[in-house]
Amino acid sequence: MDEAGLPILAIQRLRMTTDGTGVTTLICSMGCPLRCRLCINPASWDKTVPGEILSVDELYERVKIDNLYFLTTNGGLTFGGGEPLLHSAFLKSFMEKYRETNWLFNLESSLNVSRKNLDDVIPYIHDFIIDTKDFNEERYKAYTGGEYGIFFENLMYLKEKVGPDRILLRIPVIPFLHKGNEAEENRAEFEKLGFTRFDVFPYVNPENRKPISEKAKENREILLKPAKEELAKEES
Ligand code: SF4
Repeated sequence: MDEAGLPILAIQRLRMTTDGTGVTTLICSMGCPLRCRLCINPASWDKTVPGEILSVDELYERVKIDNLYFLTTNGGLTFGGGEPLLHSAFLKSFMEKYRETNWLFNLESSLNVSRKNLDDVIPYIHDFIIDTKDFNEERYKAYTGGEYGIFFENLMYLKEKVGPDRILLRIPVIPFLHKGNEAEENRAEFEKLGFTRFDVFPYVNPENRKPISEKAKENREILLKPAKEELAKEES
């Protein structure tokens, strides 16, 4: 199915310095294996949002308008989501077919997928932008609902395969989750493991994000409720 079409939530053109070098177009695909408590993008796994299915060639037709920007700025495409590696077979087909464009391909991923999906794209990706959530296993599990071991082992595997220079670790400071210096401590732990590129950033308050459907709004509220209750308990 992935070979036949990529379910798309959004395509954002003309981005600068946020996800890769030069001018980039971000392709947000649908689907995510995680359920982060303060998910900024619940619409990506909201089954009431239909998305749009594009074939390899249709996706190329959609993004080629910025060819000159990509070539003159050393930019290209960034695959994000949701979790783009759920569609690794499609991404592989696309990048194999259009590698001669000389665009750079980047990936934004939380790496919580099977090793095969990661292997599918490694030969084609220039920059790996990894959403780490948390170095601490307990906090990671509580926040994402996902398996820490899958993320961590894939991350270490990726470092062995491509080296730390091509991996940017995004380290969010998440409201309701991180206290004091915890995000900075996360960065220090990754540094001890040999990673060298970090982006420690304050997480956008999801309450300020506009949901794109009633279902997405409901999902966001469900996710926010326990976090708010926890905070209220701590403050009382
Ligand atoms: S990784 Fe977390 S924040 Fe991102 S789409 Fe999935 S559930 Fe939402």
